[in-house]
Amino acid sequence: MSAKPTKMLSEADGYALLRQYDVPAPAFEIVQSPEDAAKAAASIGYPVVMKIVSPQIIHKSDAGGVIVGVKDDAAAKEAFDKIVANAKNYNPDAEIKGVIIEEMAKPGLELIVGGKIDPAFGRVLTFGLGGTMVEFHKDVGIRLLPAEDDELRSLIREIKGYTLIKGYRGDAPKDEEFLFQVLKNACRFFEDNENVVEFDINPLRLYEKGGCAVDARVIVQDEPVVLPPHYDPEKIVPLDYYKPRSVAVIGASDDKTKMGYAAFHNLLQFPGEVYPVNNKRSEIQGVKCYPSVGDIPGPVDMVVITVPAQLVPGIMDECGKKGVKMAVVITAGFKEMNEEGKALEERMVAIARSYGVRIVGPNCLGLILPPYKLDTTYVATSPLPGDIAFISQSGAIANAVVGISLSEGSEMGYSEVVSVGNQCDLDFLDYMSYAARDPHTKSIILYIEEIKNGVAFMEMAREVTKIKPIVAIKAGSSKRGQAAAASHTGSLSGAYEVYMEAFRKCGVVPAKTLEGAFQIAKILGGLKKPLTGKRAVVITNAGGFAVLSNDYAETWGIDICDLPQEVIDEMDTFLPPFWNKNNPIDLLGDADEARFRGVYDVLCKNPDLWDIAILVNFPNKVLSPEQVGQVIIDYQKKTDNLLVGCFVGGDSLKPGVDLLTEHNIPVFEELEFTYRVLGHLTWTTQ
Ligand code: ADP
Ligand code: MG
Repeated sequence: MSAKPTKMLSEADGYALLRQYDVPAPAFEIVQSPEDAAKAAASIGYPVVMKIVSPQIIHKSDAGGVIVGVKDDAAAKEAFDKIVANAKNYNPDAEIKGVIIEEMAKPGLELIVGGKIDPAFGRVLTFGLGGTMVEFHKDVGIRLLPAEDDELRSLIREIKGYTLIKGYRGDAPKDEEFLFQVLKNACRFFEDNENVVEFDINPLRLYEKGGCAVDARVIVQDEPVVLPPHYDPEKIVPLDYYKPRSVAVIGASDDKTKMGYAAFHNLLQFPGEVYPVNNKRSEIQGVKCYPSVGDIPGPVDMVVITVPAQLVPGIMDECGKKGVKMAVVITAGFKEMNEEGKALEERMVAIARSYGVRIVGPNCLGLILPPYKLDTTYVATSPLPGDIAFISQSGAIANAVVGISLSEGSEMGYSEVVSVGNQCDLDFLDYMSYAARDPHTKSIILYIEEIKNGVAFMEMAREVTKIKPIVAIKAGSSKRGQAAAASHTGSLSGAYEVYMEAFRKCGVVPAKTLEGAFQIAKILGGLKKPLTGKRAVVITNAGGFAVLSNDYAETWGIDICDLPQEVIDEMDTFLPPFWNKNNPIDLLGDADEARFRGVYDVLCKNPDLWDIAILVNFPNKVLSPEQVGQVIIDYQKKTDNLLVGCFVGGDSLKPGVDLLTEHNIPVFEELEFTYRVLGHLTWTTQ
């Protein structure tokens, strides 16, 4: 898409286009000589601004190509010569198309409105503080198009510079409604003009009333931009493909160092038929072996392929003939390796398609569906069945989470574990769709390095998140690609921000760490009702943690909400006179069960005042950790709001932590982590 040749429209053409979309621009004229410059300036009216017109000069100020406040004829003539000389000096090869004389707009708040095409997610609108200092401010937000009105309104409020729009230190507020209309019109402009690949209005000057674009850069290509494809439900794999009656392992082995050993071994627990295929053996791991899939007497629904890459296309042909529905290709050495591997992969896919065989991988760990005892991978030990679907772009990470989930004390189960590999056929969308339809799955975790079909991903994720939560770890939050993009004001935000915005838009909860992702998935999967807010009440017997709670809550965007006076008054009837009468509610170090229960009684009577109640406990002699845990368990039965425990103090509190875990109540052992997880969890709520 970006490989197509592009060209930059002149500022004048950019203004003309913007005016069609009701974005005001200054009066202007393009001239070729100092004399004409003076004439044009006089007719526009002094003072004027003069700028170079050259398709090769993108940042005119950098080239000494902008002179503002030109006052009279003599100055205009002089400015013309100076601008042309500066431009030639800056880039001797630049084609100079003249000088543009513009009406000088009055000063105002300088903003940037831009657009670019993301290869995976399509059109992106950029908005932030602008002017020549735009790279310095780096205060921009983005929206993916199409964007709703309220998304554009919240984009305006999201940037740090919003204080300047609202009116800073006695300055009158700027015209936010006009700005909203400009954003809306900019979106319309971008969507209507399909050959626009990138644009920016930098700056857009915003006034107390109205505003004006005083620069316009529009980059176009000849053909309409090809946008990423939409979600196609036809392509999704039917559920019965995941429920094979029989599985064959091609390349099954008795040699413990081979993948074909572990893959077959893990399948021995499968309740359906399993067949080893190996043309050098008559028996493998005690099971009768066949020289090829074609020789297996009964039907074969699924195969696991571990033989070297060069052999795979031929094997795929045999599988097609046998009527295999799904092939899990563990083998590496395809597209990820070199051109030859890529050609091999294409051949394999073409053969599979001709028979309707669907492919997991290649270059992957495989697929595990623990509730069905189906493990096509070579992991050391199969995971336990449970309600989390883990879909990973890294085989090693999938392998690691399986290992972690089996460690003593933190046993955890899965409904689906899959490493997506090269995604030559089945991709993230298929595995998410499986998880959405699978009755065992309560929540979905994704580990993503790159999504190619972002638009389709969002369309599907938006539907899935209505019924099951999706938590995603996106690798690559570092400054990757940002330096390269720095020269494009429209590309101020790198790919990572586009992913975060895509997640926000379709209700996917981002997580930074594996541990965080699992906590979030567990909490979201167990919610009695969807979380719609981030108002938290903190109840504690530890004053120090009350103070720290405020700090961490602020960092992670949790709102420790004020409680109405009548609620405080009610609590005052049973709490000791010296309690702090505020949220966090400090019940003091000698707090007994009655104080905790009293507070929860009042909260449960007023569920509309808060979204989350966090009980922060520390080791003390008044209350055992089980007693405190039991209080939370009892009250979770009485409210649909989220109750969590945070038991800080090491091993002595373990019995309380275990009790809460048994009752599926979220419990943390570290305060900052509690707020971090809750912050991510409530990220998509306002
Ligand atoms: P660049 O190619 O360097 O971005 P601009 O056209 O944005 O060049 O001009 C640089 C700066 O000059 C703008 O940020 C703005 O502050 C000021 N400027 C440009 N055009 C006008 C105008 N018509 N009226 C008032 N100020 C202007
Ligand atoms: Mg500019």
